[in-house]
Amino acid sequence: MSRVVVIGAGIGGLASAVLLANRGLSVMVVEKNATVGGKMNRVISNGYTFDTGPSLLTMPFLLEQLFDECGQVFDDFLQIEELDPLCRYTYSDGTTFDNYSDRKKSIQEIATFAPSDTENYLKFLDRAEQIYNKTADAFLFNPLYSFGDFLKVNPLKFLGIDAFSTVAHKVDDTVNSPYLRQFFKRFTTYNGSSPFRAPATLNVIPHVELNQGGYYVRGGLYRIAEALYELAIKLGVDFTFSSEVNSITIENKKVKQIVLETGSVIACDLLFSNSDATETLVKLLPDGTISQRKKEKQKNIEPSCSGFVLLLGCNRKWENLIHHNIFFSSNYEQEFADIFERKMLPDEPTIYVANSSFTDTHHAPENASNLFVLVNAPYLHNSQNWEEITPNYANKIIDILQKSGLEKLRESIEFQQIITPEDFYAKYRSNKGSIYGTSSNDKFSVFLRPRNKSREIDNLYLVGGSTHPGGGIPLVLQSAFNAVTLFDRDRRN
Ligand SMILES: Cc1cc2nc3c(=O)[nH]c(=O)nc-3n(C[C@H](O)[C@H](O)[C@H](O)COP(=O)(O)OP(=O)(O)OC[C@H]3O[C@@H](n4cnc5c(N)ncnc54)[C@H](O)[C@@H]3O)c2cc1C
Repeated sequence: MSRVVVIGAGIGGLASAVLLANRGLSVMVVEKNATVGGKMNRVISNGYTFDTGPSLLTMPFLLEQLFDECGQVFDDFLQIEELDPLCRYTYSDGTTFDNYSDRKKSIQEIATFAPSDTENYLKFLDRAEQIYNKTADAFLFNPLYSFGDFLKVNPLKFLGIDAFSTVAHKVDDTVNSPYLRQFFKRFTTYNGSSPFRAPATLNVIPHVELNQGGYYVRGGLYRIAEALYELAIKLGVDFTFSSEVNSITIENKKVKQIVLETGSVIACDLLFSNSDATETLVKLLPDGTISQRKKEKQKNIEPSCSGFVLLLGCNRKWENLIHHNIFFSSNYEQEFADIFERKMLPDEPTIYVANSSFTDTHHAPENASNLFVLVNAPYLHNSQNWEEITPNYANKIIDILQKSGLEKLRESIEFQQIITPEDFYAKYRSNKGSIYGTSSNDKFSVFLRPRNKSREIDNLYLVGGSTHPGGGIPLVLQSAFNAVTLFDRDRRN
């Protein structure tokens, strides 16, 4: 029986492991950290529970498909629920907008602050759905590896998916209200890109949340990682934790073994790497196994943005907070210029606050709140000094939130932890601390991400947010489906 090694127990690694074990293969996952989940992680302290990575699940059908394919009943593992409203937006002038996947409810809200834009809102959502229908089979649910895969991409369709305009241009063309403009531009951050640079094809993202729905997982999003781990154990997958892979040994264009930091070696017939593609291709593979040109291209690929996170355990509640909350800055364009061009934390940030204790009372003591506070941050660059920046910036975020209606926030904090871009690299080896893999700021980024199987090394497969089709839970799951599809093809040949 072939021995498969999977490097990394992130969502991509776990999904690959269960799909492969379900095919009767002997699978071992080797993970640097002591727990599963990678960037989908959790902190429990002082009676507070925080998801420290994802807080919103979209396209849950991919997760259901994974359990289905493994012959399991999804509901036996996870309970998901749609949030209603999806999110509360607070603008810099105090205007608020509760947004729902129910169009009628959203329209009622919009009528109060942008009455002339209600039809345009619907027009935007219909357009997002059209783009999804034109692109999903060609770009998402397609490994884009073989000639046959590329035949599914009709170049003429490029004309109908707004690939040659930016998200910001198309949004501004469709809606007039500055509130709705900022609202629709925000979705580009779901894969860590800038709405002012990314192709307008990414206006597909509002479709998956606003038309298909945004979900919470009972117990917290980390339950997904736990459920995949339970399933993997059930299917006989072995795990080796606290073991970082230092290199991959190649012989005759095939992976022969992996070498751990401790010097131990693990032989394998197949290798699935869920480590960031830049780590795998540039650091773990020995020189000469892939071309220098390819290595340089991978080194220079633009990562997604990173995140600056505060976990705040607060001994009170606020009436104006629901589960998901956004406090918008007054100058969105400047914010993205700060992040992607100046590579600095934004002077005036938009702040996301997930308050899961609103839905899940077990996540905080009675009458208390577990606030996961996230600001989009630049990926790591040698001009930054995080030790110097971090305490001041954390204070600045707390000041802004206090001014935005979370009165007496500072004095209510009884637990605090800060996570910076440096932590995302140190803990998960994410390329330059990126949190969604590679950015989609380039209109050709769908073709720039490494495919889910190496073209140079016969038995090496790549999964995770830095590979095709991209970052975020659903796309990472899809990367595992793609990689296993390519493996199945190889087996048949
Ligand atoms: C703050 C934050 C908020 C987010 N919000 C959302 C959201 O709301 N919704 C959403 O869908 N997505 C969200 N995301 C993105 C989502 O979390 C990621 O896209 C996804 O979890 C990445 O999974 P992955 O499989 O690519 O790998 P990772 O999570 O990066 O896991 C890779 C694993 O490999 C291990 N590893 C790396 N190198 C080695 C090595 N050499 N040896 C051994 N092990 C190694 C790492 O330790 C890690 O466990 C968010 C991410 C963050 C950080």
